[in-house]
Amino acid sequence: MKKILITGAAGFLGSHLCDRFIKEGYYVIGMDNYITGDKKNLLHLEGNINFEFVEHDITEFINIEKDLDYILHFASPASPIDYLKIPIQTLKVGSLGTHNLLGLAKDKNARILIASTSEVYGDPLVHPQTEGYYGNVNTIGPRGVYDEAKRFQEAITMAYHRFHGVETRIVRIFNTYGPRMRLNDGRVIPAFMGQALRGEDLTIFGDGSQTRSFCYVDDQVEGIFRLLLSDYVEPVNIGNPHEITIKEFAEEIIKLTGTTQKTIYQDLPVNDPLQRQPNITLAKKLLNWEPKVNRAEGMKMTFDYFKSLSSEELLKRDHKDFAKHMKK
Ligand code: NAD
Ligand code: UDP
Repeated sequence: MKKILITGAAGFLGSHLCDRFIKEGYYVIGMDNYITGDKKNLLHLEGNINFEFVEHDITEFINIEKDLDYILHFASPASPIDYLKIPIQTLKVGSLGTHNLLGLAKDKNARILIASTSEVYGDPLVHPQTEGYYGNVNTIGPRGVYDEAKRFQEAITMAYHRFHGVETRIVRIFNTYGPRMRLNDGRVIPAFMGQALRGEDLTIFGDGSQTRSFCYVDDQVEGIFRLLLSDYVEPVNIGNPHEITIKEFAEEIIKLTGTTQKTIYQDLPVNDPLQRQPNITLAKKLLNWEPKVNRAEGMKMTFDYFKSLSSEELLKRDHKDFAKHMKK
């Protein structure tokens, strides 16, 4: 039985990856310190003989007794408001945490895949974004803590590959959504759906002309699975190229949720990328992968999940002081 360590296991993507690898017949060790994750995301795996959970901060030395065949490194705050609130932990998990995991991969002779992001392209001057684009990142802006941690993560991963011969893979993930996102994590989909469910107006940042391209979680997990098992070392974009402005997107959510609320406008956060769309030519060619779930289907499944949450969860506010963190 192949063994895989998944960091960030209690988070949104990590928990779906645990499910997928268990389904594929792997023994999964999930690791998390719950800083932005939720125990509830893994409750259904309690008692599963092919799963164990280790509570651990990966910026500290990682000790695993068992052999490992694979490592998926997904631990990191991922929502802008999360990483603006815990900037030092974000830098540490991308740098020290990644260093620890690469050392572990070398020691265990395991293949490691690290979760990078479309944020390495910053506010992109090339559109849609191809893997060959080096990006346009403000190193000293508030988002720099995430973007630069992820860029460092890619650099140290390639160094471990080149210098130590570690088998590495890098996925550049574009905005992904679905059940188990934290309703209060501040990202646009939980934000809009939470507002609709609470009967609040939907907050559009800036004039809403900025674009994003949203990928459903099952498609993302399929792309990651295929990339891990491929023999391609350089970064690969995985995302859904179907691009939409945030203003149009808010209108879609209003229709889907049936809310009678309206949209209101707030300041655009500093360095918020104005456009984002993955070029997925490489993933199509290498992995024979492309997204299958359209936005209408994916949003419905996600809204059904948020509707099923308790009213206590619905009313929980992690980020009342949002604006404070988004300023220069
Ligand atoms: P998430 O916040 O739901 O999950 C991240 C998990 O990592 C959480 O459970 C958190 O507790 C854990 N974690 C953070 N620091 C840790 C530490 N020091 N030690 C142990 N665990 C730690 O976010 P997500 O959306 O599931 O993102 C997962 C990964 O995918 C991240 O690396 C993120 O950068 C990347 N990514 C996600 C998206 C997306 O759209 N969801 C886009 C680009 C990249
Ligand atoms: N956004 C918004 N209202 C919100 C939350 C986010 O208009 O309540 C915008 C945000 O400014 C960005 C886009 O939605 O342009 C996507 O934001 P998100 O935080 O989901 O992720 P990002 O792609 O910026 O990392």
